[in-house]
Amino acid sequence: MRVTFWGVRGSLPSPLTAVQMRRMQRKLLQEIRLRGLPGPEEEERFLDGLPAPLRGPVGGNTSCVQVDLDGQTFIFDAGSGLHPLGQALMDGPCGRGQGRLKLFLSHTHWDHVQGLPYFAPIYVPGNRVEVYSGFTDIAGRLALQQRPEYFPVPLEAVGADLTFHQLPAGPALELEGGGAAVRVRAQELHHPGGAYGYRLEADGAVLIYAADSDYCEMNRADLDLYCEFFQGADLLIFDSQFSFNEARARADWGHASAVLGVNIARQAGVRRLALFHHSTDYSDATLHDLCAEAAAYRNLYFPDCELEIFLATEGLFLELGANTL
Ligand SMILES: [Zn+2]
Ligand SMILES: [Zn+2]
Repeated sequence: MRVTFWGVRGSLPSPLTAVQMRRMQRKLLQEIRLRGLPGPEEEERFLDGLPAPLRGPVGGNTSCVQVDLDGQTFIFDAGSGLHPLGQALMDGPCGRGQGRLKLFLSHTHWDHVQGLPYFAPIYVPGNRVEVYSGFTDIAGRLALQQRPEYFPVPLEAVGADLTFHQLPAGPALELEGGGAAVRVRAQELHHPGGAYGYRLEADGAVLIYAADSDYCEMNRADLDLYCEFFQGADLLIFDSQFSFNEARARADWGHASAVLGVNIARQAGVRRLALFHHSTDYSDATLHDLCAEAAAYRNLYFPDCELEIFLATEGLFLELGANTL
């Protein structure tokens, strides 16, 4: 199972600003003063050894994660990160009208669907895109955002074959196609207007995509439900839009925090926690601080816990499972 993050922000695309860039440049200069200018053959090692906020931007696109499995491509959410993913896919079968894609939508807030009209593979006849969500009216919702008032090309006029499937919360769906057996299960999340998380099992690995949910004011039974859904995941992609204090103050806004992610992931026996759906109001430096705080919280309260915690960043690539290519 190969996982690539194409969009990691929540709410709005958030490109790096010139002021933020200059701040990073200043910090880089400080590092060079401290460590000395590397020779040409040491450049890569020097760059790899920089503090995390200086190794690259967190990224500005909204939610989109690609999972490749033995020739099958799964996409979780269609935020603005879907655009660069589409450009990359056009170099393969999608560019020849032979693409077969499965797109799972958590919900239809803008930051999760705004990339679809700019997704090049849907304009190529012959491509097939199967869209899954927990909602019964997903086709109508997506058509709405491509009405002429909002976008020049209606959804019905795109060249690819788009089909829509409801995947309600409950038993796992067995998906055929390609070499790997794949099971996908949906779970309703706690978010204004509703949202769904997905559990993908294949290739000896388990991935959970759980964007946009809060876990506040839940009783033990509710939390147990999520722990069961997340149980034993190799990777949990978790909405950590808020700081700990913000999550408490905005309990009904439908987003969680990194610290809460640590608690739930630990209880569910998750191996790796990807902090995701970053606030558009937070700089890269703040996001790295929040990630470090979550790791410090784990170390303080659960010193034996081996949960790996990291920031989901645009372009991050991970391999899960035994049979990865
Ligand atoms: Zn969102
Ligand atoms: Zn949302």
